[in-house]
Order: sequence, then structure tokens, then C-alpha cells
Amino acid sequence: GPLVGNLIGEDHVNYVLMYNMLTGIRIAVSRCQAKIRRPLTDEDYTARHKYSFDIVGNELTPSAKYDFKFKDYAPWVFRELREDYFHLDPADYLLSLTAKYILSELGSPGKSGSFFYFSRDYRFIIKTIHHSEHKFLRSILKKYYEHVKNNPHTLISRFYGLHRVKLPHGRKIHFVIMNNLFPAHKDIHETYDLKGSTVGREYPEEKAAVNPRAVLKDLNWINRGKTLELGPEKRALLTEQLRRDSELLKELGVMDYSLLVGIHLMQRGNRDNVRRRTLKVFSPDMPIISRKKTVSKGPRSPEAIAMRRIMREADPQSLGTATFSLPEEDTGERQHFLFYQDEGGLRATDEANEGMDTIYYLGVIDIVTPYSFFKKIEHCWKGLSADRHKISPVPPPEYAGRFFSFMKAVMRGGEGGTRFKSE
Ligand code: ATP
Ligand code: CA
Ligand code: CA
Repeated sequence: GPLVGNLIGEDHVNYVLMYNMLTGIRIAVSRCQAKIRRPLTDEDYTARHKYSFDIVGNELTPSAKYDFKFKDYAPWVFRELREDYFHLDPADYLLSLTAKYILSELGSPGKSGSFFYFSRDYRFIIKTIHHSEHKFLRSILKKYYEHVKNNPHTLISRFYGLHRVKLPHGRKIHFVIMNNLFPAHKDIHETYDLKGSTVGREYPEEKAAVNPRAVLKDLNWINRGKTLELGPEKRALLTEQLRRDSELLKELGVMDYSLLVGIHLMQRGNRDNVRRRTLKVFSPDMPIISRKKTVSKGPRSPEAIAMRRIMREADPQSLGTATFSLPEEDTGERQHFLFYQDEGGLRATDEANEGMDTIYYLGVIDIVTPYSFFKKIEHCWKGLSADRHKISPVPPPEYAGRFFSFMKAVMRGGEGGTRFKSE
């Protein structure tokens, strides 16, 4: 699969940032979590809780290795999203992210300059975002929340938290925590990032031939004659969910999002074992897991409460023995979601709805780019050289319409199957 990062050790340039992000999350999230649940109010959507860390420590914040400030945005909203709609166990969430201060850095795969980090068990992704994206996400949070509530099987990115670290010299880093669509225990043999646009949407095939981790694009999909092999039942369900999701994105006035498609071929299996091998190379002393299988026991099991207490009291460094490795054939919270139920994804089916030997990992990603920002400018100059309807920066209603038509066309037997043949 494409998602293999480098573990961040103490000598890494981003070690301090990583330490600060994880310390902030650990303290802020467990603080909120320790309180008794109450119904959300309108103020919760705009709330921000501030923490100030230093090496001395105080009542609210234990001593940290570095001085920094941390802001937790809309903590109660994200808590409710995580517990009620994303089916995450609170203790499990914190453990995955912060039990050991290890993240692996994917670097900056897109053009945006955002950095991506994986939790050490690969379940969660931390993505740094631009200030404008951060402000925008806060402004749409209520609509996002309502959508998730009304669409438990949405394909849109699951946001688990929104935070900011401020370093002593004033630099501010905004970031979100979200689901990694690709499971740790399965190799992803092909990856596509599909927007429904053809202009400039091609990864060079000669490079793809030597790079199995390449993220391919719309034209590669079309030219290779790919289809999502889904029988009538799954096709109908997926189409309906994508329709609802693109309606929301249109209403939010965003564009530039894509459908990320990871393909696992069961015949080929996991013999590449890319992630596990990488982890071994980078961390020979990687501890063996002693964590129980992550079965969702509901948010407030006695174990979770006990864990939470441990999390609150423990010094992160001394937690070195609370170890874990990549979850095995365990789908955890994914079992609750229609499109992530088969080995954490969606198994291909034939016309009789019988299972085939492929598993798809699908999700709509990169959803916080409002049309209003710099895209308006891009629209003008790109429009001069290419057919206006094929370029990717178009107004949100057009973008959503084109996105949804393309997604219908990528499914076997889907409507408009010939509309997107390469021109
Ligand atoms: P740009 O704006 O240039 O597209 P970006 O920095 O906003 O880039 P994204 O489009 O969000 O980045 O993601 C870049 C790549 O990272 C994706 O094509 C995909 O390969 C991977 N990726 C992003 N989000 C996820 C996710 N939730 N699960 C798995 N992989 C992801
Ligand atoms: Ca993108
Ligand atoms: Ca982006």
C-alpha cells in the first residue's frame, strides 16, 4: 500500500512537534472525557479549551518536556462524534495515539504542504491543515455533525479531533485527527484518488510500473478500464450514500475532494507485508502487543474507565510496557459501518451479490477546501487553456455533480458507464 511512513525518533526534526501534539491530545482529551456527559449546546461548536504546558507543570497540566500551548476545539462535539457515531472506545483512542510517543511520518504527499502522521498502530491519521482550512472546518462543524448523525454510514472522512499547537516562538500548527481508511493488516495493491476530472489527472504509467505505492488518478482508472466490481445490492447502497455525501459537500460549498480507493486482491494476499517490514526495519525493539483485541464494548465499560484513570495518572514514558502492535484480523469499530464491514472494507460482489476476491477501501477525503479561497484564481487561469468543465477547480455544485456522475460511472453496470471514456 502507499501508506508507509518513517518512525519519528528523538533526533527527527519533527520530534518536538509530535511530542507536543500527543501530549496535548492526551491531556485535553482525557480532561474532557473525565467529565460527565451532557447534551450538546450551540456554544460547544465554537468552544476552545486552552492549555499551557511547561517543564514545571501545574494543576491543570502536568510537566512536559517542552514549553508550548495547546488548544482543543469543540471538545464536547468531537467526544460525542467519537463515542456515539464513530464507535470509538475512549480509552482505546487515547492509547492508540499516545500510550507511546511514536508516530510515523508520511511527509507531505499532496500539493497542499500538509503533513501526515500515523498512530503507531496505523488506525489514525494526523493531518496538519492550513489555518484557512481550520477556520472553515470550525464553521461547518455543526453541519458536519448533523450529517454524520443522520448518515451513520457516510463515506466522508471521520474527524475525531481538531487541535492546535503553538510553539514558543509563535508558530501555530493546526491539525485534525481522522480515520486511516486503509487497515494495518492488509496490503493495498492499488490506490486511486478520484475526483471526476480528467485534466492533469494522470500518474505517469511508466512510473507506476516501478512504484507499487503510487497514488493513481482518474485517467489511470479510465485507461486501465477499471470498474468497482459491485453487485446490484452494494451498488445501490453505495450510490445512495455517495449521492447524500455529495449533496452535503455541495451545500458546504467545498471542492477538490476525492474518492480514495484502495484495492486489496485476496489472491495476492499480504505477501508484500510492506508496513510490518518497515516497522521492523525502523524499530528493531518494537514491543510485542499485549493489548487485547479491540472489541467495542461501548464507551463506558469498566475497563475503559480504569484505562482512563491510568491514562490520567501515568507518565507517558513509563507507559512503555503498555504496548501494542498492529491489530490482526480485527475490524474494531469498522464492524458498525456498512461499507467497512468486510475485513475493514467492502468486498467486491458479482451480479448475484456473491463475494469476489477483491476488497475495496473507500472514502471521501480532503473535504475542507472552500471554493472561495485561492481556487477562484486558479479557475480563471486554468480555464483559458482547457475545457472549462473538465478542469478540477469549478464551483461546488458543478464539482459535486461531476464527482457523483463519475462515481456512478466507475461501478460495474453503473449509469453512464461510457461517459468518461478517455477523450
Ligand atoms: P492536495 O490538496 O494537494 O490534494 P492534501 O495535502 O490536502 O493534498 P489529501 O488529498 O488529503 O492531501 O491526501 C493526500 C493523500 O494521502 C491521498 O491521496 C491518500 O493517498 C492519502 N490519504 C489522505 N487521507 C487518507 C485517509 N483518511 N486514509 C488513507 N489515506 C489517506
Ligand atoms: Ca487531495
Ligand atoms: Ca487539500
